[in-house]
Amino acid sequence: MRSLQAKITFVYLALAALLVGLSVVALFELDRIADKAREGSKVAELVDAALEMRRFEKNHLLYGQARDLEDHAGYAGRARELLDRDAALLDALAGSGTAMGLRDDLTRYIGAMAAHADAPTDEALSNQVRILGNRIVTVGEHLAGLERQSLNTALAAHQRNLLVWLAVVAVLLALTGALLARQVTRPLQAMETRMEAVASGQLTRLALDSPEREFVSLAEAFNHVLDELERRQHTLVRAEKLASLGTLLSGVAHELNNPLSNISSSAQILKEDLPSPAGGGAGGEGATPDPATLFHRQLIEDIDTETLRARRIVRALLDYAGDREFKPAPVRLAELVDETLRFLKSKRPQGVEVRLDIAPELTVLGDRPRLQQVLLNLIINAWDAIGDLGDIGGELSISARAGIVGKSDGFPALAGQCRPGSAVIDLSLADSGPGIPPERLPRVFDPFFTTKAVGHGSGLGLFISHEIIEEHGGCIGVANRPEGGAEFRIRLPAAPVETTPENKKDNP
Ligand code: ADP
Repeated sequence: MRSLQAKITFVYLALAALLVGLSVVALFELDRIADKAREGSKVAELVDAALEMRRFEKNHLLYGQARDLEDHAGYAGRARELLDRDAALLDALAGSGTAMGLRDDLTRYIGAMAAHADAPTDEALSNQVRILGNRIVTVGEHLAGLERQSLNTALAAHQRNLLVWLAVVAVLLALTGALLARQVTRPLQAMETRMEAVASGQLTRLALDSPEREFVSLAEAFNHVLDELERRQHTLVRAEKLASLGTLLSGVAHELNNPLSNISSSAQILKEDLPSPAGGGAGGEGATPDPATLFHRQLIEDIDTETLRARRIVRALLDYAGDREFKPAPVRLAELVDETLRFLKSKRPQGVEVRLDIAPELTVLGDRPRLQQVLLNLIINAWDAIGDLGDIGGELSISARAGIVGKSDGFPALAGQCRPGSAVIDLSLADSGPGIPPERLPRVFDPFFTTKAVGHGSGLGLFISHEIIEEHGGCIGVANRPEGGAEFRIRLPAAPVETTPENKKDNP
């Protein structure tokens, strides 16, 4: 996967390399221009010497003074030195032979000047001096002009190059800016839009479609936060609903308890008043009761049975509403499961196997009777589900393992408050029944949700189990197994090592 950081680093390095390259070229060009300026000053030196030479030539021709002749000779010598020194430069400027021609003219000019000093009245000599002197200065000024022109050309070229480079850098900066904006701002804008949607209550996931690694990680983290938010929201709503439901149920259960007791006692008294089917009741010694009495007796027995069932539900509701004190203590899971299976021995359907895989030392911190109630609910549910399959038999596997809560360890939905990093014991009850249709999965823990026939299920078993597990600071979840059947998983806090029963025995 591509990384934005790598791209930015690449663009940064490419731009830095370009700027360093352009600076080196610019420095090189400036150096060339400085060379040209130095060459120009050399030519200017020669022209200056020639002009001074001519000034003293004119003075000497006018006034014939010996000092002017000396100064003239000094400048003429200086001009010759400069010609010797810069011959190559002059040839490069105006073509080969230029320095040589100038030198010849200068030699002839010095010779003519010396001859004129000996014969000051000779007009032809003074004319020759003037012509040669003029030619030397003209050539010198021409050379100076050429040098200035080449300097100007170099400066103009440098200026043009600088402008072109600036334009190239500007275009590259604009292109990389646009590219980075596309790569960075677009996903950020998409994220902003989604976050606004989240702020307005829609928990929409971010798509992981950006090719950049950073955005994919950000989107993953964001989606993880959303999942967690959704889960907490769900738990909160559920907790609020259940809190008010608990108050309501507790009130209703208390109110129903007494009338149900009264109905039950009245039914018992009525039943005793009727003659027994064997003819031994209050209705007459030895006489067989008539069909109407038998029918009444049957009705009263139905009333009694149904009242008892209603009282059991009321008891369960009172338990849920927190009537009993919650007393957590170390509980050995293997023992608890064994004991619960012994209680349920008579209810196990024919042909159903129970497989146990619980290490004897696994100990949770919990309220033993409540945990047993959870196990009873889950085991009976599993057997009911397997029983639905008819007589082909089935299997219930109960296993447990110790662990540490990870960040995302695939615990099925509807988890409770298990905090990452805490030591826990995971208990699994996996059956070979038909499983739970996916659309029903989120509802099985709801109060009064049941798919069992009227009179067989109250829909409170899983609801109360969920409450009990949450009360323990644990989690409960359910998922369908790939091989078929449902798997309930319970996560409970592990008992601290020093409080396990065995350790207590060792260190009283
Ligand atoms: P009840 O057992 O009274 O129906 P529960 O709350 O215990 O109430 O269960 C609710 C529903 O969850 C059941 O009616 C059933 O549809 C479903 N269920 C629970 N356990 C299982 C299981 N092991 N396999 C399939 N469905 C199950």
